[in-house]
Amino acid sequence: AIKGNGRNGFAFFDPSMAAEADQRHQLEVDFRAGLARGEFELYYQPIVASGSRRSVGMEALVRWNHPDQGLIAPDRFIAMAEDTGLVGTLGEWILQTACAEAATWPDDVKIAVNISPVQFRKTNLLDVIMCALVDSGLPPERLEIEITERVLLEWEVEHVSTLHQLKNLGVAVALDDFGTGYSSLSYLTAFPFDKLKIDRCFTRDLLARDGCGAIVCAIVNLGRTLDMVTVAEGVETEAQQRMLEAAGVGQMQGYLFGRPAPAADLAIGGPTTADATGSV
Ligand code: C2E
Ligand code: MG
Ligand code: MG
Ligand code: MG
Repeated sequence: AIKGNGRNGFAFFDPSMAAEADQRHQLEVDFRAGLARGEFELYYQPIVASGSRRSVGMEALVRWNHPDQGLIAPDRFIAMAEDTGLVGTLGEWILQTACAEAATWPDDVKIAVNISPVQFRKTNLLDVIMCALVDSGLPPERLEIEITERVLLEWEVEHVSTLHQLKNLGVAVALDDFGTGYSSLSYLTAFPFDKLKIDRCFTRDLLARDGCGAIVCAIVNLGRTLDMVTVAEGVETEAQQRMLEAAGVGQMQGYLFGRPAPAADLAIGGPTTADATGSV
């Protein structure tokens, strides 16, 4: 292997970088094959209403059943899928699958689908969403899309227009991981989100760090003023739950209420009742 410093005195080849590039390339090759072979699966995590703690929605979270590596979490492949543009194909499958699954659930349970910034900027996003709704028969009011501030970093007129068209269609729009970005507050004046998902780090530090409670209260008040539902992510303990409910958070999500699980393991949905005529 070529190694060492070039004449200018800087390394022009680093074996560890090559190994990393190899791995990235292999991941991409596997990913394309995985798409073709149907290795992706949606897990669903409940979103509950504060107070009643009833499930008002489910968030679809994608998993990859890799033939050698087992179950792979999205943090390991979404970025690559974005870089290669493959996130469009994956995202289309996710929307189709999530809407079809949600159509088998009770009418008062919504489905939340994460949309990557790259997918969001694709010009056909509205068509893809409308196709998923029409094919599944799911009413638009039961679909909620989650975008992060990353979508809004390169905030352009057409992005705002896409969001408005979605809202006109009846689809709700949530701002995910709220509070972790650069200038969160300014985004709230640019678009009337339906929901603010307060990032997990605030829930995590609620009992440990002074000031976190005050921040959550401030976000809740902001949500009230702007007519946006607030949701706390990453609720793991009853102590956190009590503090969040006291702060006035509208909805909660986290391991305390349920971990992401395959559709077959959900307490709702699926084939609703056994076919009475078929049973002997
Ligand atoms: P996110 O949308 O903010 O999703 C929440 C993440 O927090 C999920 O991780 C979920 O499993 C995890 N989580 C939920 N409750 C708890 C808790 O109580 N404690 C802890 N420690 N974690 C909790 P996951 O499924 O690994 O997804 C990570 C991120 O990957 C998501 O963050 C989202 O940005 C992205 N992602 C997941 N599924 C999709 C998808 O279908 N499409 C796109 N474009 N991105 C996705
Ligand atoms: Mg999300
Ligand atoms: Mg989040
Ligand atoms: Mg996140």
